[in-house]
Amino acid sequence: MFSEELKQYDWQATTDAIAAKTAADVERALRSRRPGIDDFMALISPAAAPYLEQMAARSRALTQKRFGKTISMYIPLYITNSCTNSCVYCGFNRHNKFARVILTPAQIKDECEAIRRLAPFENLLIVTGENPRAAGTDYIEEALKVCRPYFNSLTMEVMPLSAEDYERLTHAGLNGVVCFQETYNRENYKKYHPAGMKSDFEWRVNGFDRMGQAGVHKIGMGVLIGLEDWRTDVTMMARHLLYLRKKYWKTRYSVNFPRMRPSESGFQPNVVMSDRELAQLTFAFRIFDNDIDISVSTRERPSFRDNIATLGATSMSAGSKTEPGGYHTYPQALEQFAVSDERTPAEVARAIHAQGYEVVWKDWDKIFD
Ligand code: SF4
Repeated sequence: MFSEELKQYDWQATTDAIAAKTAADVERALRSRRPGIDDFMALISPAAAPYLEQMAARSRALTQKRFGKTISMYIPLYITNSCTNSCVYCGFNRHNKFARVILTPAQIKDECEAIRRLAPFENLLIVTGENPRAAGTDYIEEALKVCRPYFNSLTMEVMPLSAEDYERLTHAGLNGVVCFQETYNRENYKKYHPAGMKSDFEWRVNGFDRMGQAGVHKIGMGVLIGLEDWRTDVTMMARHLLYLRKKYWKTRYSVNFPRMRPSESGFQPNVVMSDRELAQLTFAFRIFDNDIDISVSTRERPSFRDNIATLGATSMSAGSKTEPGGYHTYPQALEQFAVSDERTPAEVARAIHAQGYEVVWKDWDKIFD
C-alpha cells in the first residue's frame, strides 16, 4: 500500500530539495527525454519561473502529440450534500447548518435529463458528500444505474470505498473514480479533517490502491491547493502516481489541481497559488507524464481556462452546478464552492473551437464495459 512507501519521503527534506533547485537543474530537466521526479521538482521550483515560455512550448507540443488538438468535456452531478465529515475548508462540513439533500432516483433521473438538454455531454461525474449510512454504496449503485442510460461514461467522486465495493460498482456502470487526497502532509492532515471517516489518512491514501485492485478503468487524483506548500504536495502526488502506474499499469490516470475557492466554511487558504504558478505546474506535469489527463474545472476563470486549453490541459467541466439538484430540482441550494467560469457549455465549446481545438463530448462507449 502507498502509505508504507510514503513513509520514506520526508516532507521537509522534499520542500528543501525543491527550494534548492537551480537554473542548471531546470535546463537539464527541459533537455531530458524521460524526466524523473528530480526533474519534476526542478520544473515546479521557483528556479523554473523564468523558463515558463519554454515549458509552455514543450507542454503544448507533447499534449498535441499525445492527444491531438482536443479537449474532452465532462459535467459534475452532485446528488447529495449530506456529509458526516468536518473538513474545515468546505461548505458541506457537517457543522454548517442548512438543509441536507439526498436526491431520490426520480430526481437523479430529472437531473440527467436536464443535463442532456443543456449539451451533448457523455461524460458524467457523480459527486456526493461522505455519509456512508444515509448515502452509502447501495445508494451510489442505484444512482449509477439511473444515470447509465443517459451517459456513455460514468465517473464518481465519493467517499473512499473498499476494493469489493469499487468492483461491485463497476458492474453498475462505473468507469472512473476521482479522489482528492487534499494533502499528503500526514502530520497536518488531521488539522483540516478533524472528524469523521475522512480523518483517517491511511484509509484515504490507500483508497487508490483499492481502486487499482478493483480494476477501475480510470483513476483521478488531486491535492487541494491552499492547505500546505503546494510544491511539496504535488511532488508527493507525482510520487504516488509513479507508484500507481507501476502497480496498476492497465489503469488510465488523471490529475486536477483545484485552487481553494470561497465557501460557506469561511476558511482562508494558507497558501495562494498565482495563475503563473498554476500554469507552471500544468506544464511541469505534462513534461513529467506525457499520457496523463490534466483536468481543469470551472473553479478557474474563463481566460485562464481558454489559455491552458491549448497548452497542456486535456479535459474540462462546463456549465457546472456544485449543489445537489442544481440543474433542475433545487437550483437555489447551497454550493460546495463558488464557480468562476459561469459560461454555458456551448459558450465554452465555442471558445475552444475558436482556438482551433475540437471539443470531445464522448471518449468511451458503454459497449466496452
Ligand atoms: S470536502 Fe467532502 S468530505 Fe469534506 S466536508 Fe466537504 S463534502 Fe464532506
